[in-house]
Amino acid sequence: MADIAPAAKIIDGKVYAERLREQVAREVTRLRADYNLQPGLAVVLVGDDAASQIYVRSKGEHSLAVGMHSVTHRLPADVSQVELLRLVGELNADPAIHGILVQLPLPKGFDEQAVIAAISPDKDVDGLHVVNAGRLANGVPALTPCTPLGCMIMLREAVGDLSGLRAVVVGRSVLVGRPIAQLLLQADCTVTIAHSRTRDLPAVCREADILVAAVGRPRMIRGDWIKPGAAVIDVGINRVPFDDPIKAAAGRTKVVGDVHYKEASQVAGWITPVPGGVGLMTVAVLLQNTVTAAKRIAGLD
Ligand code: NDP
Repeated sequence: MADIAPAAKIIDGKVYAERLREQVAREVTRLRADYNLQPGLAVVLVGDDAASQIYVRSKGEHSLAVGMHSVTHRLPADVSQVELLRLVGELNADPAIHGILVQLPLPKGFDEQAVIAAISPDKDVDGLHVVNAGRLANGVPALTPCTPLGCMIMLREAVGDLSGLRAVVVGRSVLVGRPIAQLLLQADCTVTIAHSRTRDLPAVCREADILVAAVGRPRMIRGDWIKPGAAVIDVGINRVPFDDPIKAAAGRTKVVGDVHYKEASQVAGWITPVPGGVGLMTVAVLLQNTVTAAKRIAGLD
């Protein structure tokens, strides 16, 4: 029997990310022409984690493609914390660099919090410095973590005015859950943050006009947890064996979200697929954050 056509409109991350990169490229062209200002991004990679290397290469390529100045510093895993902090200090002082991103996670033995704290808040394009988290919580201009900001751009463009809507964010991490909740609050949503101790999570989720899943548990959120017509933003990236037993037996894996896409897309009004949704926006927002940082540092924002 043929599958029933999904009810939900798909929020296509590729379309939104391409559009944002085009906007950033136009703004970079304008800043270079009008102010001789070329936004510069420095990415620091410590060690040789395979996934981190892919992310870092992608960040470098995309920043060059939009006309930015781009530098990648690759340090060996046995570099000392002091050396890493010295590099961060040099980048803080470098006038050609407006955004600094230290690729996380750092190898074992590093104090990540100390490294994040050493980045100038004005150049903290990952939005992880406590000064930026505090600014975001206070509702004043901040450099905002890229994935949460990407979710908001997609939500605003797909759904429109979010004011007064009930939003439930499942997950309370500093990287994703908390900043998304802050951004939804700024958009005048009524926000609930759920987590591993939340009682009757399905009932909490069913109240949501906007449901954001940032958990890290494959397909945890089922179709009957979703209010009909809700906007569902799936941040999760989980690697699981293929459903097909032959591929699974061969050890092949695929990426799925925190939401059971097949069930949820029958009920939701909008949904982000995984892959092809939120994940694609993250680098585009990093470029936008670097432009924002460059303009603020130059007094142009
Ligand atoms: P964390 O592990 O830091 O946080 C997970 C959160 O989920 C915690 O707050 C935890 O609650 C909560 N949680 C765990 N289990 C349950 C449960 N059974 N019920 C309810 N809540 C639960 O993860 P991140 O926030 O860093 O990432 C979340 C997901 O998003 C991951 O899959 C990650 O790969 C993905 N991700 C995707 C990005 C992208 O670009 N698309 C970027 C960053 C992350 P508690 O606090 O109580 O432990």
